[in-house]
Amino acid sequence: MNTIIKAGSEQNWQQNNLFLSCNFNINCNFQCSYCINKKFRSNFNEQLSQKALYNLFSNLPLLKKDFYSFSIAGGEPSLYQHFPDVLKYMKEFFPPNKIKATWLTNGSLLHKLEEYFKDYRAYDFNLTITLHLEQMNAETYLKKLSEFKYPDMCTIKIMLEPGTLKQIDSIIEKTKNFGYKKFNVMPITINQKLYPNYTTEEIQFLETSSFNYQRLFNEYLRENQTIKKEYTRNEYNLNPELINYKGLKCLAGYNSLIISPDGAISSCYSTMKNSVCNINSDSLINYMAEYEPITCQNPWCACGTYTAIPKWNPKYSEAPNYFIKNFPK
Ligand code: SF4
Ligand code: SF4
Repeated sequence: MNTIIKAGSEQNWQQNNLFLSCNFNINCNFQCSYCINKKFRSNFNEQLSQKALYNLFSNLPLLKKDFYSFSIAGGEPSLYQHFPDVLKYMKEFFPPNKIKATWLTNGSLLHKLEEYFKDYRAYDFNLTITLHLEQMNAETYLKKLSEFKYPDMCTIKIMLEPGTLKQIDSIIEKTKNFGYKKFNVMPITINQKLYPNYTTEEIQFLETSSFNYQRLFNEYLRENQTIKKEYTRNEYNLNPELINYKGLKCLAGYNSLIISPDGAISSCYSTMKNSVCNINSDSLINYMAEYEPITCQNPWCACGTYTAIPKWNPKYSEAPNYFIKNFPK
């Protein structure tokens, strides 16, 4: 049997990075039938308060991380009432080389986003535009994408439904003509298993079409030898067993924060129900001061960013050096 002794991305083992998954608002102008936010909406305030937003940004530099990477979803993030303040605080509290931010949008309000970003072109700010074709047809999407001024900051994300390969291929070719270069075509998975109706051609397309994400690795112990396997995000989409970290120590919470619209802070999606900090009233400094690595309880890890966070088997490996330095035993 193979035992994973170390996992994550090389970069996150070397650098003390912080990943922030932000849901500053949960309201949306679409009503997708598959939306997972529906079940959360009744539990949350719809929008993060101005006070919590300021507390978050003013505390983050005090954590002295090497780099801060924001992923801002929703709802539809362009509907967040304090959107201009998010950009203003990023500029106020961070030098441009310490920060990267990606907004995950449904693409219906690109004109609004264009206006917001026009004064921030020097920053590493990105948009992932997910095409929800059941809510807005391909023609309308193509028109909006052709009019948007900043295709260089965008990744187009599309879910491949069995039988729609031709349509997706055609959308990609057309958007390439507008200057878009990055695409992420995702498979449908059910209970972490690939939807069974894909043809060989569709699986090949999924394996080769997507924009190249950072590489992850697992280090295994096999018959007293260490074996390192590198893989991409698409490979684990097709084989989720690669990201089964159950029982390993994980730096989620030290290297990642999830911010919910009600101000609750959690370490990763599997610990969301047990939030111990709320930035409407608490300081992130206190939260971090009490930090202990998590022992993962899950048979698979929730998303790309969290798979890249360092994990290790304490029987065979130690935590990253920067963590040992900050938290000597
Ligand atoms: S665009 Fe996203 S947040 Fe909005 S309804 Fe669809 S899946 Fe939900
Ligand atoms: S599910 Fe959470 S605790 Fe488990 S490996 Fe992923 S980020 Fe870490």
